[in-house]
Amino acid sequence: MSTNASAATAKRTPKGTTRGTPKEDADVDARLYQSIFDGVLNHRLTPGTKLPEPELCQLFGVGRAVVRRVLEKLAYDGIVVLRPNKGAVIAEPTPEETREIFEARRSVERMLVELAVQRASAHDIETLRQQLASEHAAMHRFDQPSWATLASGFHMRIAALAGNSILQNYLKELVSRCSLIVGVYETPGNAPCEHAEHAAIVDCLEARDAAGAMALMEAHLRHIEERIEITRMRGEKSLGQLLGLVGHAVPIQGR
Ligand SMILES: [Zn+2]
Ligand SMILES: [Zn+2]
Repeated sequence: MSTNASAATAKRTPKGTTRGTPKEDADVDARLYQSIFDGVLNHRLTPGTKLPEPELCQLFGVGRAVVRRVLEKLAYDGIVVLRPNKGAVIAEPTPEETREIFEARRSVERMLVELAVQRASAHDIETLRQQLASEHAAMHRFDQPSWATLASGFHMRIAALAGNSILQNYLKELVSRCSLIVGVYETPGNAPCEHAEHAAIVDCLEARDAAGAMALMEAHLRHIEERIEITRMRGEKSLGQLLGLVGHAVPIQGR
């Protein structure tokens, strides 16, 4: 492809290289961010997968400035790692990070659910139940990306009902980091059904039972963490490794 651009030739300008309105720029950023994020959630992008800037520019028809901005945001959210002079790769969550993220989620979500018990209206709770039903339906269509969005959506809606935007923003960051971990360790198409646990939390909201809601939220988050630990331990010691037939697993490069 020729890079010598003759001003007279009206070439098709790639989208995003022209300056858009702030809203258009934000839309382009969000689309690129979401594509990479979804790629992790549905296992197309595994830890270590390289994300070369020129390829992203071409695939999304955007300029380098956009790609860099989005990669920086993804790095801030712990989804990619930026290596100096080597470009971005999908991050590999460590056991330590996993422990810290779940610990933080448990304390933040205990507070949020307690506030939600005090502040949610009867109408809010009714809406929450309806959303829960659509979440459950999506999950059983084995539609994992949308399941993941809806499952974290449940937690984010509780946060919204708590009426504290600072805590809500903390949770937003924690949930996206958590989604990466769940995306990496959960078996594709094998998402566990969290419906009963979510529904029990809504029951407590309705009964205005703060202590019950907090205990159930804590237990729910512990179950998710335990499942990840089990999957990780299985991944670390394959049968071949246990039998001493192979050395250590070589991470598969995404492309
Ligand atoms: Zn949940
Ligand atoms: Zn179910």
